[in-house]
Amino acid sequence: MYDIIVIGAGPAGMTAALYAKRAGKDVLLMEKEYPGGQIVNSPLVENYPALPGVSGADFAENLQKQVTELGVPFEYTEACSLEKKDDVFVINGEEKLSAKAIVLATGVFHRGLNLPREEELVGMGISYCAVCDGAFYRGRDAIVIGGGDTALQDAVYLSGLCRTVYLIHRREAFRASAVLVEKARQRENIVFKTPCVPKEYVTNAYGITGIVLENTKDGTQETLEADGIFLAVGLSPQNEFARSLVALTPEGYLEADENGFTSVPGLFAAGDCRAKKVRQLTTAVGDGAAAATAACDYLDQI
Ligand code: NAP
Repeated sequence: MYDIIVIGAGPAGMTAALYAKRAGKDVLLMEKEYPGGQIVNSPLVENYPALPGVSGADFAENLQKQVTELGVPFEYTEACSLEKKDDVFVINGEEKLSAKAIVLATGVFHRGLNLPREEELVGMGISYCAVCDGAFYRGRDAIVIGGGDTALQDAVYLSGLCRTVYLIHRREAFRASAVLVEKARQRENIVFKTPCVPKEYVTNAYGITGIVLENTKDGTQETLEADGIFLAVGLSPQNEFARSLVALTPEGYLEADENGFTSVPGLFAAGDCRAKKVRQLTTAVGDGAAAATAACDYLDQI
């Protein structure tokens, strides 16, 4: 039985573990994939105070090292369901784990466009991670789809590797930060395609060779040739395993306040999995600190 189990080892979860361990609690970090979460896909974090230009992977590695050196154990396993019985939380999965308090820091995962054959083309030209797969397209043409920070960041990163980067977005305006949009506009090899929606992937026996686009303003269609397509069309939460216990928004985010309190005593939420407006590295680590502090206060009172 742990004092606190933190589910999810992204920046929010690892920060929560750091704070809880430093407060003297017995903490376990549970992670179903790899430590770091989405930030490991970020080539350059330019807006984290006092650490300009750190890569997402380096940030995650340093945080993991800091948490590990404090003595927080990591358990690489998936939480399949969550129950609360007599003030004890039980996490069911490959093994059963129990704790007096839980911090949910499950993050978000990439959404697709749901075009035909999309799933089978991942790894055959379709990617969700420019940092991981960009080098495959060095000197070749690539497409980025989306208009948020991820898409603009990916386009700028890929423009340093690829011959041409087509940035496809369904609106003329971008939701990405103005700084990133301006940076992308200054790259001569980024070609903006707006307002355009992808209609179908073009393939040969080896995978992607391009995409069919429709301009939503004039209805014209064109086929763009490219070797790689990077999807950056947003993120979805992954909290279904906890649905029977805790309130979720219609989109599946955890209903929790800024201190991490959910509708269930002893169950806290931190980071991108929480219903909130701003999802940044800064807000993730802030959430982790707040939720861990609230969890420690809860433990001190029961
Ligand atoms: P996002 O902000 O939700 O943007 C998703 C983009 O995909 C939007 O432009 C959206 O278009 C477009 N889109 C969604 N569904 C689509 C569809 N079916 N077809 C075509 N386009 C579609 O997602 P994100 O860029 O991954 O960012 C997620 C969060 O992480 C945000 O809070 C972001 O600020 C943060 N983030 C921050 C940084 C940074 O600070 N450097 C870097 C990466 C991510 P519409 O705009 O028309 O809705």
